[in-house]
Amino acid sequence: MKVHEYQAKALMARYNVPVPHGKVAATPQEAHAIAQELGGKSVVKAQVHAGGRGKAGGIKLVATPQEAAQAAGALLGTRLVTHQTGPDGVPVRRLLIEEAAPVAQELYLAVLVDPAARGPVVIASEAGGMEIEEVAAHSPAKVHRVVPDPVLGLMPFQGRSLAYAMGLKAELVRPFSELAINLYRLFVEQDCTLAEVNPLVVTGDGRLLALDGKLNLDDDALFRHKDLEQLRDVEQEDPLEAQAADADVRYVRLDGDVGCLVNGAGLAMATMDMVSRVGAKPANFLDVGGSADDAKVARAFTIILGDPNVKRVLVNVFGGILRCDVVARGIVAACQQVGKNPPMVVRMLGTNVDEGRQVLRGSGLNVTLVDTLAEAAERLRR
Ligand code: GDP
Ligand code: MN
Repeated sequence: MKVHEYQAKALMARYNVPVPHGKVAATPQEAHAIAQELGGKSVVKAQVHAGGRGKAGGIKLVATPQEAAQAAGALLGTRLVTHQTGPDGVPVRRLLIEEAAPVAQELYLAVLVDPAARGPVVIASEAGGMEIEEVAAHSPAKVHRVVPDPVLGLMPFQGRSLAYAMGLKAELVRPFSELAINLYRLFVEQDCTLAEVNPLVVTGDGRLLALDGKLNLDDDALFRHKDLEQLRDVEQEDPLEAQAADADVRYVRLDGDVGCLVNGAGLAMATMDMVSRVGAKPANFLDVGGSADDAKVARAFTIILGDPNVKRVLVNVFGGILRCDVVARGIVAACQQVGKNPPMVVRMLGTNVDEGRQVLRGSGLNVTLVDTLAEAAERLRR
């Protein structure tokens, strides 16, 4: 789950990561009042679940409360399109109005899960700011990494080694190390999958300040953070992904035209690989889960059909606990409900397979039944 910058910064402040003074505004009047409180000169920041706001016009530096109100009027109620959103963008409902910090240097600091390290790693760079992706791609020597011991956590010597690698001034080495340790503690204690500060700035008067803050939370750990669960902003999510989350279906929307219904995350990934290998493109990842009933299968299939890009469907089910007839009935129910009948290639094996095939054959739907995944993929070749 993603959270807004202002929510991330409130959490960071609790962990003694220094953030600028600021407040949230939902109207130009509020923006005006907050800017006045801050002394006029301020930064108006669109609160959306996407990065790249700076380049997309979602961050405005203003000199007066009047300008803050103007910028707020121009941003609120619009949809912001950045390189991290789809072409439709995401709605701007709130703004963070912050004191404008004098920036001497922009650094990068993040804690994230690295599959290769099989745990969290801490990444820092002296070349933070809006070009960090280019820095990572073209100047990897400017990106520094330490792997904390998962039991001991991030150690002061590791924080200092990052500071030295970035070439920070001597008086910033300790504060940086402390800040990194605090961010790491936040990451672990709040079950994050990402905690990122970009830019972490050195201010004109030589302090470290988190100008931006981003936290992603592990959905599977949210049950033990009831306070964080409330930070969810469904409006920022893809509507189909939000529906899937409500239905407890693992679904990730992609940009292809082949809708995929699969049971099991591993099988779902293998299925997407097979689709890609024959030159077709999956419209989604979907794992309906092992213990679904026909209502849940129907909801999952409704979500697939709800994507206007879906022109054909691949069903790949290995019936174990989930029976093939249950899947078949769910599919038929969804097609009837939605009133759609796209060409479907169905590969089903396992428990109650004959009954499942019979349900599909008798349904009048546009179904091609196949025996193997390779055969299914062949049918999708373009
Ligand atoms: P992002 O583009 O979505 O990552 O949004 P950021 O919060 O990182 O803002 C983009 C850029 O705006 C930063 O890299 C800074 O260069 C600039 N910026 C943001 N806040 C301030 C501020 O308080 N003072 C100054 N001078 N620049 C700022
Ligand atoms: Mn940023």
